[in-house]
Amino acid sequence: MILTQRSIILLAFFAQFMSDFSILKASGFLLLLGLSIYITMDALIQLYKVLKKGKPNPERVGDWGARSKLVLVNVFGQKKMLRNPAGYGHLIIFYGFIFVTVVSQEVFIRAFFPDFSFKFLGPVYYGLLFGEDILSIGVIIAIIIGLWRRYIQKPIRFKDDLAHSKGLNRDATIILIAVGLHMIFGMLLESIEIATNTHPLPEAAIVSNALSKMWTGDVHVLGEFVWWAHAATVWVFMIYIFGTNVRVPKNYPSKHFHILSAAINIFFGNLKPKGRLSLIDFEDESLEIYGVNDIKDLKWDQMLDLYSCTGCGRCQELCPAYLNDQPLSPKALILNMRDQLLETATIWKNDPGSDAEMERPLITGVVPTETLWSCTTCLACTVACPVMIEHVDKIVDMRRYQSMMEADFPSGIQNVFDGIEVNSNPWNLPKSDRDIWADGLDLKRMKDHPDTELLFYVGCAGSFDEHAKKVSTDLVKILKTAGIDFAILGKEEKCTGDPARRMGNEYLAVEMMSQNVELLNSYNFKEVITFCAHCYNNLANELPDFGGHYRVYHAVDYMAKLLDSGKIKVDTSKPLNITYHDACYLGRHNDKYKAPRAILSHFKGVNLVEMEMNKDKALCCGGGGGRVFYEQEAGTDINKARVEMAVKTDSDVIGVSCPYCTVMLEDGIKNMNADIEVLDLVEIIASRLLE
Ligand code: SF4
Ligand code: SF4
Repeated sequence: MILTQRSIILLAFFAQFMSDFSILKASGFLLLLGLSIYITMDALIQLYKVLKKGKPNPERVGDWGARSKLVLVNVFGQKKMLRNPAGYGHLIIFYGFIFVTVVSQEVFIRAFFPDFSFKFLGPVYYGLLFGEDILSIGVIIAIIIGLWRRYIQKPIRFKDDLAHSKGLNRDATIILIAVGLHMIFGMLLESIEIATNTHPLPEAAIVSNALSKMWTGDVHVLGEFVWWAHAATVWVFMIYIFGTNVRVPKNYPSKHFHILSAAINIFFGNLKPKGRLSLIDFEDESLEIYGVNDIKDLKWDQMLDLYSCTGCGRCQELCPAYLNDQPLSPKALILNMRDQLLETATIWKNDPGSDAEMERPLITGVVPTETLWSCTTCLACTVACPVMIEHVDKIVDMRRYQSMMEADFPSGIQNVFDGIEVNSNPWNLPKSDRDIWADGLDLKRMKDHPDTELLFYVGCAGSFDEHAKKVSTDLVKILKTAGIDFAILGKEEKCTGDPARRMGNEYLAVEMMSQNVELLNSYNFKEVITFCAHCYNNLANELPDFGGHYRVYHAVDYMAKLLDSGKIKVDTSKPLNITYHDACYLGRHNDKYKAPRAILSHFKGVNLVEMEMNKDKALCCGGGGGRVFYEQEAGTDINKARVEMAVKTDSDVIGVSCPYCTVMLEDGIKNMNADIEVLDLVEIIASRLLE
C-alpha cells in the first residue's frame, strides 16, 4: 500500500493521540493482542476438531522422549532445512523471529511501565539484545535473498504447475514483507529509545546504536508511530496466518500456518523405519474399505501432514517423476489434498455432526490415477520434507484402494499379482525353476541343514533375472572364499511381497509376508544376507510386523565387513572409472550410503566420481514402487535421465547394489546406446578376489 501524505499525517495524529492517552493506548494494544490470541486459539481448536474426524493411529502416540528429540533436532536444530544452502536463510529467519518476539515483549511492556526491562536475566539479557539486533539484519538480508530467489532465480521447487490453488508466491511475499517490516520497525524503535536515553542496555544493540545517531530533535511522535507499526506487523502477521486458514477455509490458506502446525506435525512424526509401510488390519470386520478414496478415510496424522505443508517444494525438486515431466508433483499432491480437506472441513464446520463426503472422490477428483502410478516410492520427497510430511504412505493408501477395491491399475500389473500368487515371483515364471541358477554350485538347502548360521536370501531377481543370477553366483563365490557356512532356501524361497505391497495389493503382500515368516521361523539361522535392496528392506523393516525378527545384512555391509576383517583378499590395483548409483531402498529407505563407498575406496585403482544427484538426493532409477513391471506413457524416462547423469561423470561403469536398478539402468543404456556398463558391487569384488 502506498502511503499518501494525508494518511501519514493521520497516522502521526493517531500515534500522538494514543501516546497522550495512555489508557487508550493500553486498551488498543490489549484489544489487538486479545484478538490475535483469540484467532490463534480458534485456529488451534478448529484444527483439533478436523483432526478428530481422522482415523486413529496408535503408532503416533507414546514414546514422548523420542518425539521431543524429533522437535529438538528438526525444529530447533532445523536439521532437514540445512540439507540445502537456502536452509541457512530459514535458520536465520527462524531464530531472528524468536529473538525479536522475546525482545518485543519487553518493548511493548515498556510502553506502559517505562522502567520495565528483562535486565534481571543478567548476561542472558545482553545475549538477547545482541542476538536480536544482529539477527534482525540477518533476517532482512535473508528475506531479500528469498524474494530474489522466488522472483528472479525461480528454482524448480517454486513451480506450481500441478497445484490446483495458485498464489503460493503471493502468500510468501506478504509474509516475508510483514516479517521484514517487523524487523525494520523493531530496530528503528530501539534506535529511537537509544536516542532518547530510554533504552536499558544500548551497548548490546550494536546496529540500533549506530542507527540512533541519525535521530536529532524531538522524535517523540515518530517513536509512537514506530511503536504502533512494530506492534501492528505482528498482529497483521498473526491474523493473516491464522485467520485465513482453518477458520475460513475457502480462502487460500497461508503457507505460514506451518509455524503452528509444523512443530506439532514433527512431534507426531513417524518413529518407525522409513522403509516400512503401515498395516491394514484384515481381521477387523468393521473395515468397509481398504485403502483411501475419501479425505475422511485418512488417519489424523495424515490430515495433520496436509495442514503442515509450507509449499516449499523441496520434495518436488527431487521427485524423479516430476523432473521427467510425468504427472506427479509431491508438493502438488499434498496441496491439492489439503484443498480437499479444507473444503470437507467447511462441511463439517457448518454441520458439526456430519460425516458428509465431498461429492468429488479423492482419486480422479483430486489425484489423477496417472499421478498415483507415476510414483516410484523412492522416498526422495519424504526424506527432503523439512516438516516430516509423508507422501508415499498416502500414495500407497490410494493405490490400495485402486488395487483391492477397484482392481484398477496399469496393464502389466495383473501379471505381477498373478505371478506372485501362483508362482511366487513377479515375472510369473515357473516356481520350480527358482534355484536352477544354483545348479552345479553345490549349495546347501536350509531344509536339509536347518541350523546353518547364515541364510542367503536370493530374491526373485537373483533367481530369475539373467544379470542378477550372475550376481547370485558371484556372491556365492565370495562367501565360499571367505569360508562362510551358509545355505539357501532353494525352491522353498518365495517373493517377499514387496512389489505387490508397493502396488497396493496389501492382501497379497500380507499373505506372502506371513508365509515367509512361518518358513523362516522354522529354521535356526542367526543371520540373513541378501543383495537385493527391496528384499533387504522387507526382511529388515517389514517382517518384524509379522513376527519375523532377524539380523539382516545387505551384501554391501557384509562385504565391507569381510574386506575390513581380511576374510577376503582382493586385487586392489586394477584400474576402474566408476560412478555409484544409490538404490532408493538401500539409501533413503535405510540410510546405507557409507558401505558401498567404503568398498570402492578399498580398491586403490578405483576412481569414484559422484553423479550430480547422489546419496540422499540421488535420482531414482525409475523402477521402484513396482514401476519396473509397467510402462509409464507420460513424460520422459527416468532411467535415461539417470544414465545421462552417469555418462556425464566419464565413468566406464555404474556401480549398483540392487538388481532392479541394474534392470532399469541397463534398459536406459540400451535405449540410449550409451557407452557405459552396469556392475553390481558384488561382481566388482568377485572379479578381483584373490583365492
Ligand atoms: S516417492 Fe519419489 S516418485 Fe514418489 S512422489 Fe516421492 S519423490 Fe516422487
Ligand atoms: S510436502 Fe514438505 S517438502 Fe513438499 S512442499 Fe510441502 S513442506 Fe515442502
